Amino acid sequence: EKLYGVTRWGGGYFEIGPNGNLHVTPDVSNDKMRIDFNDVIAEIKEEGIQFPVVLRFHDILRSQVALLNETFIKTIEEANYQGNYRGVYPVKVNQMREVVEEIVDAGEKYNYGLEAGSKAELLTVLAYNTNHDSLTILNGYKDEEFIRLSLLARKLGRKVVVVIEKFSELLMLIKWSKKLDIEPIIGLRSKMTVKGRGKWEGSAGDRAKFGLTITEIINAARLLEAEGLGHCFKLLHFHIGSQLTDIRAVKDAINEGAMIYAELHHLGFKLDYVDVGGGLGIDYDGSKSTNDSSMNYNIEEYVADVVFGMKEVCDLEKVPHPTLVSESGRAITAHHSCVVAEIVGEIRSNSATMDTSYLADEHILVTNMRLLVTAIDNQENLQEIFNDASQYKEQAAAAFKLRVISLEELAKIETLYWQIMESLQAKMQSQKFVPEDMQELDFSLSSQYLCNFSVFQSAADTWAIDQVLPIVPLTRMNERPNVNCSLVDITCDSDGKIDQFVLGKGISNVLPMHKLNKGEEYHLGMFLTGAYQDVMGDMHNLFGRLNEVHIFSHDDDPLDFYIEEVVTGSSVDDVLTIMQYHPKAMAQSVKKLIDGQIAKGTIKPREGVKWTDFYEDCLKGYTYLKT
Ligand code: PLP
Repeated sequence: EKLYGVTRWGGGYFEIGPNGNLHVTPDVSNDKMRIDFNDVIAEIKEEGIQFPVVLRFHDILRSQVALLNETFIKTIEEANYQGNYRGVYPVKVNQMREVVEEIVDAGEKYNYGLEAGSKAELLTVLAYNTNHDSLTILNGYKDEEFIRLSLLARKLGRKVVVVIEKFSELLMLIKWSKKLDIEPIIGLRSKMTVKGRGKWEGSAGDRAKFGLTITEIINAARLLEAEGLGHCFKLLHFHIGSQLTDIRAVKDAINEGAMIYAELHHLGFKLDYVDVGGGLGIDYDGSKSTNDSSMNYNIEEYVADVVFGMKEVCDLEKVPHPTLVSESGRAITAHHSCVVAEIVGEIRSNSATMDTSYLADEHILVTNMRLLVTAIDNQENLQEIFNDASQYKEQAAAAFKLRVISLEELAKIETLYWQIMESLQAKMQSQKFVPEDMQELDFSLSSQYLCNFSVFQSAADTWAIDQVLPIVPLTRMNERPNVNCSLVDITCDSDGKIDQFVLGKGISNVLPMHKLNKGEEYHLGMFLTGAYQDVMGDMHNLFGRLNEVHIFSHDDDPLDFYIEEVVTGSSVDDVLTIMQYHPKAMAQSVKKLIDGQIAKGTIKPREGVKWTDFYEDCLKGYTYLKT
């Protein structure tokens, strides 16, 4: 636990069990519930589902929806706040149908709604948010079709709020609402001066991509009034960025937003709602700090700052408390899914060795390197040995290119070099001061575990924005891990690697894992992937989507679970079709080639049929490695 910090980033859902396996408690209201990941892996194998697999715990989604709504309800009561809470889930954070359906179902009793930011998402929320008391918030840039669809939703009795991101959208909305004679509910998004903190702080400020300046807001409100639609302006929206790491940014934004709301009220625009956007963070590295992958607050503090912050300004300004809307997506979805993948190999720079015994005619560089091996035990100045060895290695590479040393001599020098580095690393363990150059030794001597997954499909943000995601072995956590590793994926891309891990209370470029036993299946879990990662994956190297397994807990047996649904991942056929290939035609053309070889007698007919079937089976098969 100290090493992997599971309870620090686990949000109350994950812990290491007494048997050393990772356990999940998907429904926090039932703390007797425990599902052992090893049992889940066994069941997946029994069902014949290939790894890597995305595990979805729908109970976690439900728990998070309840947690957010209940926290708002409780805080509103405590604060004697006169407005309500009407949250919406922004579908862009994870648009998977099963995820949206589960959230809508869990949120029904709270009148929890949906948010859309594109036309495709609008078409989705129109069909899925059928609760007339919940809100549907429409953000993002809009065209005429988007506006007409929003008016159709009004006709269907939905509380759909069109949030204006840029002035021209308002003109379109006024035009269509008059043409169709349908009254819209209008929100205006304010460009905030308060900047969020963290990777998404560009979402606010003068150069923000979305929103209206204060001048534009006043002009928009006056235009609506002049057009006889002033009463349709109901909501003020702001969003200062996702993953807000510092609670001070939340406080500042609420204060600024509340002031704008109050001033609009004084100007005669009596809004019903203030929408504080997303931003509620996730403590990916468990440090409870303002690190980019963390946050220095929890959900209760966030909600308290929204509710009490709004109340304070409203009371001072003597304006009614508006209904509060928030658009948290990351906080709702991050915990509910994880990727389980298998380690399929180990790569070490120093794994291969050569016989390095003395040869009378060997090059002096080989002799010098060998002398360093024996010098280590007697030499006080280890840095000098490190420097000399590094220099000989460089000289050897240059000498080889100039044909001065042979390939075999180069290999001997390499073997001796790694032998020296390993001895130096061992000696360093007892040293108080480790020189800067030599601090790299742990990393350069660490293993790379080859993991059957694609960073670009399953953990895009680790590559794109250095997001840290917790990664842990799912078993053997009661054994001291004895290999320091970084992870490499199976794409043909050197960027397909992970070398930032949550370790103890900090971040490390290696993760301690266990030596692989012969024939052992060693699975890793990559956690908190439910927000954005699940849906941002790309087709790099044509790996495509993973098999998905939806896990539900049993009400009557807290230690049991069942696989409710399996969503098959991409087959080779699927990914090729997306890329405009015609797999059937490809199979025919390969068959023709095989037939040609049969005609020439280089392949026997029986063998030819087998090769043809094999090619077709691979086309239908999973894109990841079969282990
Ligand atoms: N609302 C808007 C307008 C957004 O742009 C975003 C994401 O950046 C969200 C909500 C979701 O934010 P989060 O995932 O931080 O909850």
